[in-house]
Amino acid sequence: MSTVEDPIHILWINAGLSCDGDSVALTAATQPSIEDIVLGTLPGLPKVSVHWPLIDFESGPEQGADTFIEWFRRAERGELEPFVLVVEGSIPNEDLITGEGYWSGFGNDPQTRQPIPTSTWLDRLAPRALAVLAAGTCATYGGIHAMAGNPTGAMGVPDYLGWDWKSKAEIPIVCVPGCPVQPDNLSETITYLLYQASGQAPMIPLDDQLRPRWLFGATVHQGCDRAGYYEEGQFTTEYGTPECLVKIGCWGPVVKCNVPKRGWINGVGGCPNVGGICIACTMPGFPDRFMPFMDEPPGAHVSTLASGVYGAVIRRLRAITAHKADIEPRWRHRDVHAHRDSADQREKVLT
Ligand code: SF4
Ligand code: SF4
Ligand code: SF4
Repeated sequence: MSTVEDPIHILWINAGLSCDGDSVALTAATQPSIEDIVLGTLPGLPKVSVHWPLIDFESGPEQGADTFIEWFRRAERGELEPFVLVVEGSIPNEDLITGEGYWSGFGNDPQTRQPIPTSTWLDRLAPRALAVLAAGTCATYGGIHAMAGNPTGAMGVPDYLGWDWKSKAEIPIVCVPGCPVQPDNLSETITYLLYQASGQAPMIPLDDQLRPRWLFGATVHQGCDRAGYYEEGQFTTEYGTPECLVKIGCWGPVVKCNVPKRGWINGVGGCPNVGGICIACTMPGFPDRFMPFMDEPPGAHVSTLASGVYGAVIRRLRAITAHKADIEPRWRHRDVHAHRDSADQREKVLT
């Protein structure tokens, strides 16, 4: 447990097989923002020291990469505690390399000046970390780089370290998937871990895919602005219309993701809300299990047929009720007749 004097370090490795999209996404977080975390504007948040290649001055050419990497070397030597290790990008299988070379590396070995493979950093740092957080679908489940037939043997952090792996603080790997990750989902999870690390929050609640339960407990469909159209059996076959997108490839009914509810930046956006189909980018089987994108998902034919029939009846009945509900009561009209009838009318409405 840290004291007020000792900051909790966040060591960020973005050198898995990665496009850096999750680092970029985090810069858009607002609830809380990365500035809130770093500057400690949240009540009770412990001091943090972030070592994040995307924005760290020390990772620039002027200072030389060694200045930045030295934080990681210190952590490896046990001189930097406590720290949370954030991993972005999938972990390639270096055992598949037979000759010279490597799939992905992070910094150089000071003696040999050879790159240090990302997987070696995981081997060195995970045992010393307070918690390991996998950010984005590549780091959590392999993602795009782990598609069938890829030559790298790419995998997510739980496949590399083991799904039952726990940190020295008994915290399982924390997975925040998304391609890229929804900014606030990541900043909120980092914040939770910081509160937990400082003894102010209980063990982070994770589901069986190691996702924070409160973020990934509901489906896209359950939070979608278009769900009313689905229920009334109104499906579009083209973009730019307000109806449900399932016939043009939306996987929302079976995908665990809070983006339609939470929006993308500052509450705005959220794939199907703003016209994009859900391609299931948070799911462990992404992308292989959800391709080809833009085809109607299997099973959707039957469910849309059922809700099409049900929806047609419901729409008709609702239209009658909606018409009645959309008229002002007669006794509020100015004409005398209406006032004479008002007592009778009120009685009818109340009974
Ligand atoms: Fe990039 Fe998506 Fe992988 Fe993140 S999960 S590193 S955004 S490809
Ligand atoms: Fe569900 Fe997708 Fe239709 Fe939204 S657009 S209601 S998530 S199927
Ligand atoms: Fe990914 Fe679907 Fe969530 Fe959009 S709604 S972020 S495509 S899982």
